[in-house]
Amino acid sequence: MKTIRQITILGSTGSIGESTLDVIARHPDRFQVFALTANKNITKMLSQCERFRPRYAVMRDGESAEQLANAMQTAGIDTEVLTGIESLEKVASLPEVDTVMAAIVGAAGILPTFAAARTGKLVLLANKETLVMAGRIFMDLVKQNNATLLPIDSEHNAIYQSLPHHFNGNLAAVGVNRILLTASGGPFRCSPLSTLEKVTPEQACAHPNWDMGQKISVDSATMMNKGLEVIEARWLFEAAADKIQVVIHPQSVIHSMVAYVDGSVIAQLGNPDMRTPIAHAMGYPARIESGVSALDMFKVAHLDFEEPDFKRFPCLRLAYQALSTGGNMPAVLNAANEIAVESFLKRRMSFTAIPTMIEYVMQTVKPEEMMTLDDVLRTDAVARDIALNWLENYQKLYH
Ligand code: NAD
Ligand code: MG
Repeated sequence: MKTIRQITILGSTGSIGESTLDVIARHPDRFQVFALTANKNITKMLSQCERFRPRYAVMRDGESAEQLANAMQTAGIDTEVLTGIESLEKVASLPEVDTVMAAIVGAAGILPTFAAARTGKLVLLANKETLVMAGRIFMDLVKQNNATLLPIDSEHNAIYQSLPHHFNGNLAAVGVNRILLTASGGPFRCSPLSTLEKVTPEQACAHPNWDMGQKISVDSATMMNKGLEVIEARWLFEAAADKIQVVIHPQSVIHSMVAYVDGSVIAQLGNPDMRTPIAHAMGYPARIESGVSALDMFKVAHLDFEEPDFKRFPCLRLAYQALSTGGNMPAVLNAANEIAVESFLKRRMSFTAIPTMIEYVMQTVKPEEMMTLDDVLRTDAVARDIALNWLENYQKLYH
């Protein structure tokens, strides 16, 4: 008999969270929602609770939790409403839970994702920022607590699918020559460089192939997303930076590839819809329906490839630089990027100021080793402060 898996979705009201619920709804015999969490979106959370009847709903924001609890009572839903970071950690680690979808955006996701790994869960990792900030520390925690980590990020999921089953962290031992990490190039791949200065948040968020949350959409436009993914791949697959090659592939049909020493290249293809990697990881090792339509090769017709241009995409260069410096630098890069993206989205600075701010913060923080989660959180806070100071000076100059 199949046992029904109990799932907590961290960030259920977001783009990945909603796609996860869509897959779950197709398999009521396999999955049950144990807890849902969100930041502030009460309306969406209420309708998700109405449909999936979880045991717990966590709102990060206290006021939203109160309003949600009232609305739940009125609607006669007996889901218990909790709030605060401790509650996020709790629903990621309770013994009833076996699977945790980590789909909160940004550094806000790190503590509950750590809690899931610490308690040996099957962790489905969308929150790449956790690995960028705390790669070695997080991977060690997963190992020490017998947690299982499966990548949701489409590229890493594709790499996972293109590696042999017996891969155990040593790429050379399974004959891998290189990882080819594909990237769409985002909405500004062909825009004249001189127009980037005036790019608006709406333009930056209009991704040609994927429908995603705002932060990752801006990251895709600067290609910082690919930089974060290079760092993510370094930790997930124990891949040295020079073994990870970024390949621009505008159609987003090949989600990444693995090149072997015999000249073979194994790729995973599919329509750009996150329900495929989500269903792969949720069903693993079984293959389950995702709701994604079959890939029509005649419609695709062309697969194109280009080399990335570091002048157009300085964020990609900065990410490689942070990876090669190591220690605290990827966490510094991540924190500065979060402040930069948020400031750009709030129209406090230009699109082209994003890499300028990040580079300044990276040059200001002293490179250091990080040994613990506390070191990571401290680094994150320091880098954010420096970024906010930079922003203040920038605004004095330009506003
Ligand atoms: P999103 O903005 O659509 O959703 C984010 C979710 O996190 C929401 O449920 C929101 O309520 C919650 N959240 C936001 N801030 C929070 C806070 N401070 N505390 C607690 N919860 C908070 O984002 P998304 O596009 O779904 O991305 C989620 C993660 O998945 C990101 O790390 C992203 O890089 C990664 N990812 C997304 C995609 C995609 O297609 N959307 C693809 C690959 C990886
Ligand atoms: Mg990706």
